[in-house]
Amino acid sequence: MAPDVQELFEAARAVQERAHAPYSRFRVGAAVRAASGTIYVGCNVENAAYPQGSCAEAGAISAMVAGGERHIVAVLTVTDGTELSTCCGGCRQRIREFAAGDTPVHAAGRDGLWATFTLDELLPSSFGPENLPPR
Ligand SMILES: [Zn+2]
Repeated sequence: MAPDVQELFEAARAVQERAHAPYSRFRVGAAVRAASGTIYVGCNVENAAYPQGSCAEAGAISAMVAGGERHIVAVLTVTDGTELSTCCGGCRQRIREFAAGDTPVHAAGRDGLWATFTLDELLPSSFGPENLPPR
């Protein structure tokens, strides 16, 4: 694993431990690297009213925006599953708001990296901010 990806993996693994997943027991950690190089992390947060739960990626993106940044250069998620798990459809669109099509999105399990995609591979022909008329 490349050092920059390893750093994302370790950050995602650490925050995965804090996930609130008492219902699914499917803990997810996410790490996004912003343009400054800073890594922002998030974990899934489930809720007894199930639809109110939120994804790890959403938490990481929220932390990035709260930190004053608006550009993602890499994403990594980690799960405990035994099969490849990639970002859900909603999170692909959340990432799209702040990332270019060639942004790497890494999917990892507890023991290491499973696969790397570009955002365009995960969300082809996507809709983004530039599709809206100028303000
Ligand atoms: Zn998601």
